[in-house]
Amino acid sequence: MLMLEKSFPLSSKMRISVDHEKLGVFSQSHVKFYLKYSSFVFRALKKPSFQNFLHWMLKKEKIEEDAVRTVHVKVLPFRRKNGKCLAGTCNTSRGRIRIYPKTMKFCQTFKQKFGRNTLLVYAGNRARAALIHELLHLKYAEDEKTVRELSEDYFLTCTQKQPNKSSRAFFIYTMIFHAKISGEKTPPSGSNESSKRLKLNEACLRASGVLSKPC
Ligand SMILES: [Zn+2]
Repeated sequence: MLMLEKSFPLSSKMRISVDHEKLGVFSQSHVKFYLKYSSFVFRALKKPSFQNFLHWMLKKEKIEEDAVRTVHVKVLPFRRKNGKCLAGTCNTSRGRIRIYPKTMKFCQTFKQKFGRNTLLVYAGNRARAALIHELLHLKYAEDEKTVRELSEDYFLTCTQKQPNKSSRAFFIYTMIFHAKISGEKTPPSGSNESSKRLKLNEACLRASGVLSKPC
C-alpha cells in the first residue's frame, strides 16, 4: 500500500497545518478535539483508493497535478464574517488548497443525533467533497455553478468507487449536497482579521446544504 501511495503526487503535497497564534483562543479540550479531527481527515484524504480517484478525476478534467502545490488540512475551523464555516479554499494562482474542519459544537450535535460512526463517515466524506470541489476550482476558477455541479457528480462517483461502500454512503452524499438545515446566524468571532488576509476569491466551498449551516 505504501508503494502505491508514493505514485500519487497529490498525496505527497498534503500536510496537517495549524495556525499557532490561533491556538490560544481555543480551550485545551477543543485543541485536542481538532487535532484528532485533522489527523482523521488527513488519513481519509490520503487513502490510496481516494488518491486514485483524484488522479483519475484530474486526468479526466485535464488538470495538471502540478497545478496543486499544497493541500493543507487545517486543524482549526475557519469562520467567515457571516458566521458560516468554510469547508475549504483554493488559491488558484498559488495552487494552494486548504481544507477546514466542522466545529466541535457541530460535531457534538451531529454525534448525538446520528452516532459516532456516522460522524466519522461524515467528516471523512465532507473533507473529500471539499477537496474535490477545491481541485475543480483550479480549472473553473470563479465559475461556482459549474464547480458545484461537477463536485456533486464527482463525489457521487467517488462514493460508488469506495471499496467499502456502505448503505451510509448515499445518506452521506444526500446530507452533504442536499440537506437544507436552516439555522440561526451565529455572529462571527475572532477570526475577522485572518478572513481579510485570506482573500477568498478562492473562497467558498460549501458543498451546499450542510456546509452552509452556521456552526
Ligand atoms: Zn467553490
